[in-house]
Amino acid sequence: MSRFAEVQVKNNQYKIKGDFHELIPNTPIRDADNGHRLMGITNPRMLVHMHSYGGEAVFFESLSQGKLMASRCDNPKCEYKGSIWQPFRIACPDCLRKMTPIDMTDIARKTAKVHTFMVCERSGAFSLLDKPIKFINIEFDGVATILMSYLAVGEPKMGLRVVPIFKKIDPTYTILDLAWVPEGTKADALPFGFSF
Ligand SMILES: [Zn+2]
Repeated sequence: MSRFAEVQVKNNQYKIKGDFHELIPNTPIRDADNGHRLMGITNPRMLVHMHSYGGEAVFFESLSQGKLMASRCDNPKCEYKGSIWQPFRIACPDCLRKMTPIDMTDIARKTAKVHTFMVCERSGAFSLLDKPIKFINIEFDGVATILMSYLAVGEPKMGLRVVPIFKKIDPTYTILDLAWVPEGTKADALPFGFSF
């Protein structure tokens, strides 16, 4: 099924165009062992969910431009002023003040390594990643937190030095525009649409 749904913000309002919900005919659920008596119905619905990014929009826009953004607390009164957080978050968990977006692409290229990992042979509904999925937890020098992402090429191991890759061709503007490969991976080994 193909559908068209487009949203723009104009004059500070959502302007929607296209198909945002579709009612699909329902069908009966019958008991094949007992004379096909009625047990219930299916209730199919298709809808387009509009997901606002708010203050996190800069993170997703930057992925499509090959940049990994983090946030840093610059509040002079914060006990942990200068802490860098990845994944990106809007407010400081320590002082609750709005943080400053910073570009940490270089920190990631030079210091990212696998903290731990898990390999999943199965995934949930709507997962777009190829199986097995090699989830990795990534640590960075000078960053307070660990990032969950996935290894797109090679096999994970603890301590493996990895570098970020970005889906700059046909970006999805989701976290799937970011993946990781072992340091030294050649550009022609990257998945379609991705580059360093
Ligand atoms: Zn703070």
